[in-house]
Amino acid sequence: MRIACLGGGPAGLYFAILAKRADPTREIEVVERHRPEDSFGRGIVFSDRALETLRQADPPSHAEITRNFRHWSDIDIHFKGERITAHGHGFSGIARASLIRILQARAEALGVKVSNGSEFTDPSPWDDRDLVVGADGIRSAVRRSREARFEPVVRESRNRYLWLGSTRRFDAFTFAFRETAHGWFNLHGYRYDERTSSCIVETPETVWQAAGLADMGYEESLAYAEQLFADVLEGEPLIGNSQRFDHPSGWQRFAGIRCRRWWDGHTVLIGDAAHTAHFSIGSGTRLAMEDAIELARCLSRDNGDLASALARFQAVREPLALRALETGFRRMEWFEDIAAHAHLAPDAFAVALLTSSGRLDLEELRRRDPQLMGSFSATAR
Ligand SMILES: Cc1cc2nc3c(=O)[nH]c(=O)nc-3n(C[C@H](O)[C@H](O)[C@H](O)COP(=O)(O)OP(=O)(O)OC[C@H]3O[C@@H](n4cnc5c(N)ncnc54)[C@H](O)[C@@H]3O)c2cc1C
Repeated sequence: MRIACLGGGPAGLYFAILAKRADPTREIEVVERHRPEDSFGRGIVFSDRALETLRQADPPSHAEITRNFRHWSDIDIHFKGERITAHGHGFSGIARASLIRILQARAEALGVKVSNGSEFTDPSPWDDRDLVVGADGIRSAVRRSREARFEPVVRESRNRYLWLGSTRRFDAFTFAFRETAHGWFNLHGYRYDERTSSCIVETPETVWQAAGLADMGYEESLAYAEQLFADVLEGEPLIGNSQRFDHPSGWQRFAGIRCRRWWDGHTVLIGDAAHTAHFSIGSGTRLAMEDAIELARCLSRDNGDLASALARFQAVREPLALRALETGFRRMEWFEDIAAHAHLAPDAFAVALLTSSGRLDLEELRRRDPQLMGSFSATAR
């Protein structure tokens, strides 16, 4: 079987690893525009549960990934001059570039051909392959080449965000909120290696316009965000990305995407190409890698009957992807409307934020952090 994976992010590389491991006679090529060290983005987080899934799917890459991890269990919420700490949340962070490097090395060791520095505009050059995997992310050219077949449904956030790094070494997953004359800004920060943290700075489109950020260049935007959150950053700088942006200021809008159909003939979409989840729930990479696991499993199970394998793949993964999309939308809406929660006292605000996606309820929060919930109940009385 000859397989082309178009896009060498977490989904494409992980699928290549698992498909090659399942059948070493398969000829698999991954086509990717970047070199691993130029990969976009900063750090990404995995929950403890997500790691267990990776351990079961491919122990060698799991071992390498966990060797590069930064683990933490606290969440700090900075609001109205107070810091509320919530304990008992298990997460691990890793640099996206490290994850890509590990997956690419593992894929190549198994005999997968990875062509870095190759940009494609549509999948037609690989039409003669038995299977074409569109793993080319949120702006997928593979999806765009057959929109009428995949039928994507897109909902854009009302917020703008910058995905940056910082030399500020956060000890906890950190949320910080700032009110300006134009409205609210928020920062999500988490450390992913000894020296660096990921920082996402977000604000509603209306505030972004009013603050004049739409007319600023990328460097000016960084300086603005750096100054706004200087105290939480403890004077450390924000670091930009070499990514391509939709807007010259670098501020992007998250697009929630779902496709009604994930496959067409011998072409299938996986990861962000097929569906996205808002970054505030930190699940996109896990979902992309779980897609890879399921697609490899379906191919092995329905060996020879590609249509059945691809139909089964969508049937298994779509409900889970839709659930994550909805969970992410709930969180996204909460961040789009911070002004509506700003009247809350800091501890009530923290509890509202932590339960905003619906994944955690008050009972679970009490189990994880009885002290936080105790003080919240006392002030709420
Ligand atoms: C601000 C932000 C923070 C995030 N934080 C987290 C987090 O903490 N945890 C988490 O799990 N997820 C997070 N995510 C989501 C995560 O980044 C994605 O869900 C995940 O990367 C999807 O993996 P993928 O392989 O499907 O796509 P991608 O990672 O986008 O990979 C696609 C690959 O295809 C390549 N490619 C695309 N088009 C072409 C082309 N035409 N030619 C050649 N190559 C091409 C790209 O270079 C890329 O390497 C975050 C996302 C954002 C925006």
